[in-house]
Amino acid sequence: MPPIVNEDKCIGCGNCMDVCPGDLMVVDPQTLKAYCREPRDCWDCMSCNKACPVGAIKQKLPYQLGYYPAELTFKQVSKDTVLWTIIDIMGNKREVAFTVRGKPRKLSREEIEEIKKRLEMKKAR
Ligand code: SF4
Ligand code: SF4
Repeated sequence: MPPIVNEDKCIGCGNCMDVCPGDLMVVDPQTLKAYCREPRDCWDCMSCNKACPVGAIKQKLPYQLGYYPAELTFKQVSKDTVLWTIIDIMGNKREVAFTVRGKPRKLSREEIEEIKKRLEMKKAR
């Protein structure tokens, strides 16, 4: 299943576009909100989910792994800890925390504002 973007949270930073191995995520230049342009081609690799600095992406699990309402979401809860929230097919919720071994990639408020500004300028062109 493709990623589902919460438009109220999405700030149009483009991180999901940058990391998608299938080049599937795009930010609409008019709305500055991201979406998956070819849902059937999504590999469920979760890269976009992990790269989103504001937790705007939710992943419904494919039917081979868990039918509706199964889903998986990601959140970086501290500099070196991430939290995966798993909802199974019965709707039971489980949270699993992991220590980050690589370098965490979380944008600062200033960086987010800078990206927003750049996108606004792009839109105005
Ligand atoms: S889950 Fe992976 S393949 Fe699917 S849209 Fe996100 S980054 Fe691309
Ligand atoms: S990474 Fe998140 S905030 Fe940034 S464009 Fe994608 S969905 Fe929106």
